[in-house]
Amino acid sequence: MAEWGCGGVAATESELALRLLVIEDDPDLNRQLTTALTDAGYVVDRAFDGEEGHYLGESEPYDAVILDIGLPKMDGISVLESWRRAGRSMPVLILTARDRWSDKVQGFDAGADDYVAKPFHLEEVLARVRALLRRSAVIQEESDHG
Ligand code: CA
Repeated sequence: MAEWGCGGVAATESELALRLLVIEDDPDLNRQLTTALTDAGYVVDRAFDGEEGHYLGESEPYDAVILDIGLPKMDGISVLESWRRAGRSMPVLILTARDRWSDKVQGFDAGADDYVAKPFHLEEVLARVRALLRRSAVIQEESDHG
């Protein structure tokens, strides 16, 4: 009768796991995103306002960030601009309100890599995160080889 090993598998997974940061002030949406991404195998940190998210993104090495634009304390555009000014280059997917086309323009100008408009399907967010991670892995590999 087989027994479940404990430790070995988890250690391997955590070494390989990619780290994501979710910054979203809507508690339900934050939970949905965090749960979906955790289920997909990522290690996810979360923040509920711009200041907290900004601090985390500046101090921790995330592989990608999901950033809401409308946030208390510090809006998403300011968070992103500040990271880019400081040389933080991780891929950032912004969440914009539907019909707020100016959010998208401002977001891209501030250094966003992609966006999803609310309300969104979680599957779309997951697919876009995968695409961002894939692209940044290729870029890293290319710069590693000269
Ligand atoms: Ca919001």
